[in-house]
Amino acid sequence: MPHTATETYRKDPAWAGLADEATVAATRPMNTVTSPIDGAALGEVPIGTPDDVHLAVTRARQAAKAWSARPIDSRVEIIERFRAELSAHRDALLDIAHAESGKAQISAFEEFLDLGLTCSYYAAKAPKILKRHRRIGALPVLTSAYVHYVPKGVVGIIAPWNYPLTLAVSDSVPALLAGNAVVLKPDSLTPLTALLVLRLARQAGLPHDVMQIVTGPGRELGDPLIDSSDFIMFTGSTATGRKVAARAGQQLIGVSAELGGKNALLVLEDAPLARTVAGAVQASFANSGQLCISIERIYVARPLFEWFANSFASAAEELVLGGSNGWEVDMGPLISADQLAKVTRHVEDAVAKGATVLTGGKPRPDLGPLFYEPTVLTGVTDAMELGREETFGPVVALYPVDSDEEAIALANDTEYGLNASVWTSNPARGRRVAEALRAGTVNINEGYAATWGSIDAPMGGFGISGLGRRHGMEGLVKYTEPQTVARQRLLAIGPPEWVPRDKYVAAMSVASTLLYPTVKGLVRRVFNK
Ligand code: NAD
Repeated sequence: MPHTATETYRKDPAWAGLADEATVAATRPMNTVTSPIDGAALGEVPIGTPDDVHLAVTRARQAAKAWSARPIDSRVEIIERFRAELSAHRDALLDIAHAESGKAQISAFEEFLDLGLTCSYYAAKAPKILKRHRRIGALPVLTSAYVHYVPKGVVGIIAPWNYPLTLAVSDSVPALLAGNAVVLKPDSLTPLTALLVLRLARQAGLPHDVMQIVTGPGRELGDPLIDSSDFIMFTGSTATGRKVAARAGQQLIGVSAELGGKNALLVLEDAPLARTVAGAVQASFANSGQLCISIERIYVARPLFEWFANSFASAAEELVLGGSNGWEVDMGPLISADQLAKVTRHVEDAVAKGATVLTGGKPRPDLGPLFYEPTVLTGVTDAMELGREETFGPVVALYPVDSDEEAIALANDTEYGLNASVWTSNPARGRRVAEALRAGTVNINEGYAATWGSIDAPMGGFGISGLGRRHGMEGLVKYTEPQTVARQRLLAIGPPEWVPRDKYVAAMSVASTLLYPTVKGLVRRVFNK
């Protein structure tokens, strides 16, 4: 039976005592976590302090020694057991993510799928990616070189509220497999999901101190976590990302930052029409538009514009809004009063400056305190706040364009560069347009899921949308220090005593041009072309 967040909380024993999973150095005052669906109190977590961060990192550093010394197969085994625990507790995980973030159950399921796939992918690939790899040595035959991957030590992860399962935990999986310990600071609005997942990881055999959570305000816990970690994985706004990267720079530690976006979708004139409308609706309104890779700008070939605008607005009107955990719900509420205020402000400002509302444009207090209608605008200009700023809500602007080149130029006219989407029936045209877009991921005939779901491929942002990448081998190797070991045989590098220096210089000048040969390169060198 579908139910509301309040009922879920009252009935589910899996939620009992979750605060005990958090690391604290002493008894702390508690923060009550409430549901954005109906304001119900869901649970309490400690308001952590820098002392709690220090304790967690100290314990993690100690635990990392034994963890990294284990053979990788033993770490893989634990991640596989963790995946099984996740599957066994699917409904509790979906309910807690739904209740805490307000997201529709189908959006919570996307998160659940993503986390499971991330576990399977890295469990399968990490042993191969992290094993010693031979590299070409300085001198053929005489030098043998290999690289091996040393874990960073303690990885600090700072996560946002919009994907409390995926963004809090999926980045921990490769960090752990690489042999690191993890200290995670989830967002204060959604810490319970992360605590439940940590409990499941511990039940799966993850040693207690190898992964810990400190709950509390990012403004106070962020700096101590950055100062004491060996690497920081941050997901959140560009504004906070700049502070985190600056602080990490002071410490000279690596940082991977997945930040905001003002993502564009391009409807070319040969787009498959019905699929494009459905895909654009999903890409704009999934998770109530509170998705870093969701679409906020749609550029439509002018001959299709009127048809597309009407069809898109009608399809948006058909979305089912609600707070129950039933599968029929498409969109839940926004996460907080702050988000509701920002979305309302952006739309009111646009309308006051001349934008037209095709559908939506209003809060829905009849459904709950934080609901907002899926909203479609035309006539948006750069003078309006939402013209260039990320709204991070269910609001999208439509623009007619006269050519692919104009669509590309407008899509690229932003400092952001996270995700983009191109719709066309012509694969070659799709690739040409995709490669001209400045975005870390570009989906052809999909909104965001094709690239995000391709876990084998890197995901991240150009420009102010981020630094570094998650997913793929890039998302694993970043949690290591690659160490090169080279062995020299027989002859040292440098002039041997028995060879006159001028002969050595002459011989090496020729020999060095023959190193790293390719057929084309050799032909060019020999014929000087
Ligand atoms: P936010 O930057 O306000 O908060 C993110 C995290 O940073 C939270 O855990 C918060 O407690 C912490 N934090 C706050 N101040 C801090 C500080 N001074 N030092 C260290 N940590 C601090 O972001 P948000 O509002 O929670 O999330 C929404 C934003 O995140 C949007 O801009 C969205 O586009 C972006 N986002 C990006 C991705 C991605 O993969 N690129 C994914 C999800 C969300």
